[in-house]
Amino acid sequence: MSAVTSDPSIHRPSVPVSLPHCPVCGVELQLGSSGPLDCWSCTAGHGLAMTLSESYERLQEDEIALLWQRARAGEPGPLSSPFDGRPMARVTVDVDADEVPEGQPGDGANSGTVVVDVDVANQFVWFDAGELDELPTDLADPEPTPEQLAAEAEIVARFGAEIEAAGEERESHELSERLYRRVARHPGALGALDNVGRALTAY
Ligand SMILES: [Zn+2]
Repeated sequence: MSAVTSDPSIHRPSVPVSLPHCPVCGVELQLGSSGPLDCWSCTAGHGLAMTLSESYERLQEDEIALLWQRARAGEPGPLSSPFDGRPMARVTVDVDADEVPEGQPGDGANSGTVVVDVDVANQFVWFDAGELDELPTDLADPEPTPEQLAAEAEIVARFGAEIEAAGEERESHELSERLYRRVARHPGALGALDNVGRALTAY
């Protein structure tokens, strides 16, 4: 008896059945990683796509909150989603060096703007070549205060219940759970969560 099995589950693809395509040239995007960052990129250099949850590895919380808030309110833009072909929202994000939510006390002066395309339904962000480099890098989070820990515990309790309620749709469930886990262990993201939370609870 051969040790090789024909069990199809062993050959399960590790990428989505429907592979994402470059919104500029249409080639299949390649999944790769750069340090802790996983993203899909165009082999012709047109840009890259990453999940909203993955973006916490690279972007600052205040910029993520702002781009998500604007994308949810945004009009369909010129580029199609790499994942389902529907128009992405094109948003202009104000950037600065700090992670204080835009307009809140302590928020520093904006240093410029970056334009990105967001697939709101699939929770992906598309960056044209060079756009990601224009966005400030995530900062190390300070130790959480007792108040932040209490607020975090409350959010964890609330999201736990909502994730269970969203359990019917497996894929959405896994995506929101992943984001939830990342935010939950990321105290600095609590401000951003107020904005992105609406996306999760839409499930
Ligand atoms: Zn391309």
